[in-house]
Amino acid sequence: MLTNPTLLTQKLIQHQSITPAEAGSLAAIENWLAELGFTCERFDKEETANLYASMAPGKPAKLCYVGHVDVVPAGDKSAWTYSPFEGKIADDILYGRGAVDMKGSIGAFIASLAKAKASGKDLTGVAIALTSDEEGAGTHGIPVLVEALKSQNHLPQHVLVGEPSSSKTVGDTIRVGRRGSLNGILTVTGIQGHVAYPENCENPIPPLMTGLQLLNNAHTDDMHPAFPLTRFEVVGIESSSQVSNLVPQWAKGLFSLRFTPTFSGQDHIERLNNLLGPMTSGFPECQFRLETKITAQPFYTKPGPYRALIKEAVKEAGCDATEDTGGGTSDGRHFAPYCDVVEVGLCNATAHAIDEHVSIADLEKLTELYEKILLKL
Ligand SMILES: [Zn+2]
Repeated sequence: MLTNPTLLTQKLIQHQSITPAEAGSLAAIENWLAELGFTCERFDKEETANLYASMAPGKPAKLCYVGHVDVVPAGDKSAWTYSPFEGKIADDILYGRGAVDMKGSIGAFIASLAKAKASGKDLTGVAIALTSDEEGAGTHGIPVLVEALKSQNHLPQHVLVGEPSSSKTVGDTIRVGRRGSLNGILTVTGIQGHVAYPENCENPIPPLMTGLQLLNNAHTDDMHPAFPLTRFEVVGIESSSQVSNLVPQWAKGLFSLRFTPTFSGQDHIERLNNLLGPMTSGFPECQFRLETKITAQPFYTKPGPYRALIKEAVKEAGCDATEDTGGGTSDGRHFAPYCDVVEVGLCNATAHAIDEHVSIADLEKLTELYEKILLKL
């Protein structure tokens, strides 16, 4: 069974591991990995379950596979063609929550280990780090494992993240970095009053618009040759007034900034504040408050032997891959300050969607691809 990625993935889907519950999925994986000779250690914190499995405990791994067993909720279950946690196979397609994000990748990696072992490959340098909280806040997930490995001096040399990186066919995209993420709220407080007596009010909305516009235009110089452009997106605007004859007391704009490694999150916070500062003096009756939170630092793995190894393995598996830095954030960022991180996984089209699914052919292709990587270590 361990060489069959579809059966492994199906079993994992049947554990309803909605963040942060592992719902028995990690116990199943521990049994499979123990059978392959891995030593498993748990680093659970509060409700989050974390597993680190190694072939050579006490030594840093050469390659550590990183993934998550948790899934997002199924949403409207009645909208699914097959029950989301049944793991139904129909017409060579496996349906279920987590099929591509990312139980399918975990199944494929374990199957690739079993196959590589059967072919006589020494897997001593391989480790696996899994968490049950990637889709949620993630604070008690991979960061806990990274800290534990760091304190024991066992950080791996290279990390392979199994997130669904592929676009149209398995292996068509290798992620070699991710943008950082910063969320913010700009709040302007004015003076509330009757719209018919503007001399008694100070409307906070025009200065809010001016401020957001200024921030929106501020990132044209933040470029990195290997990254998509930095984006500032206003995602919500609200005010304290719900009626048309009331000038609001306050107005706020919510925004998100996705940024390249050219500037750090802290640099951006400073830049945003420096931009706003001079502008606020034009509105002496208003108070401005800018709140910011860095939710992910960017990372980038430069071209080198590890990227070359992955690219070569992907090519040998018959895939024509481009390397990119698109998509949202991933747990790879927690390892990135210490080691090279690359991400290769299934196609992401149905991730988090109703009727999430993966073809058996794709699971087998990803298994082959992972096996090629293992054989090259
Ligand atoms: Zn994922």
